[in-house]
Amino acid sequence: MRKFNEKTLVIASHNKGKIREIQELLAPFSVEVIAGNSDLPEPIEDADSFLGNAQIKSRFFSQAMQLPALSDDSGLCVPALDNAPGIYSARWAGEGKDFDLAMQKIEKAIREKDLNPQGQPAYFMCALSLMWPDGTEAAFEGRIDGTLTFPPRGTKGFGYDPIFIPEGFDITFAEMEPAKKHLMSHRARAFKQLVEACFR
Ligand code: IMP
Repeated sequence: MRKFNEKTLVIASHNKGKIREIQELLAPFSVEVIAGNSDLPEPIEDADSFLGNAQIKSRFFSQAMQLPALSDDSGLCVPALDNAPGIYSARWAGEGKDFDLAMQKIEKAIREKDLNPQGQPAYFMCALSLMWPDGTEAAFEGRIDGTLTFPPRGTKGFGYDPIFIPEGFDITFAEMEPAKKHLMSHRARAFKQLVEACFR
């Protein structure tokens, strides 16, 4: 796997929270972490997998800026719903980013299959793609398994955290201290692999 030896890494996103989080994660490696040029549009993510969508973003920004670019794509998958909302996790919340509505939709969709939403298996996935301008790539995936609970519980997280109980626990991600979630999450697992493979 190619090592990261450059000075600057572009984050293929305009999301300030995401950029700050990645800057903190890579702080020990003296890499300058910068945001994707805000004049560039975010490309349309029309692949059929998390990794495919991550690659669209990392390829676009690495080409446009002629620097290595890192992107991530993530979501919640419910096997009983053919892994929905999956790559459409953000879209299920609609234009208003209403995750209460998105969580209700999940509960309703499970009931429509005559299944019990309570305790349904689910998992979060995170794909990471680090792409160099010459098209070389390092890709990683992290996953955390758990079960769903309704109604949603807790206020500490974001997105689908209030309905997701990670395996081995009895509280949701939104009831857990963020530092604890960040040690075990799908994103943490993918980043750990990236750091081990490319930055150590
Ligand atoms: P994206 O990877 O930034 O496109 O985010 C995809 C969507 O997946 C987010 O809008 C969230 O709804 C959901 N998601 C991803 N990771 C998490 C998480 O750790 N907790 C809750 N929801 C998540």
